[in-house]
Amino acid sequence: MMAESIRQCISCRTRKSKKDLLRIVRSPSGHVELDRQQNKMGRGLYLCFQASCIEKAKLYNLIQQKLNRKVQESIYLEIAEHVKKC
Ligand SMILES: [Zn+2]
Repeated sequence: MMAESIRQCISCRTRKSKKDLLRIVRSPSGHVELDRQQNKMGRGLYLCFQASCIEKAKLYNLIQQKLNRKVQESIYLEIAEHVKKC
């Protein structure tokens, strides 16, 4: 049996299965993007699909802090679009 990968949401710090979280990645070129398939190279972090977690991350610039890179406003639109489809 394969062990389930557990990751922590950067906003609420709840631990969940990777598949129940959004992955944001800082690519090797330094671009911060949403990793829809959770398979991109680079330093990643995880967020719940819940609007409250996404809002908190935006409000406190958590993505920027964790990845040490300026985050484009558009990533939040991308996340919102992705969450709607899930
Ligand atoms: Zn969360």
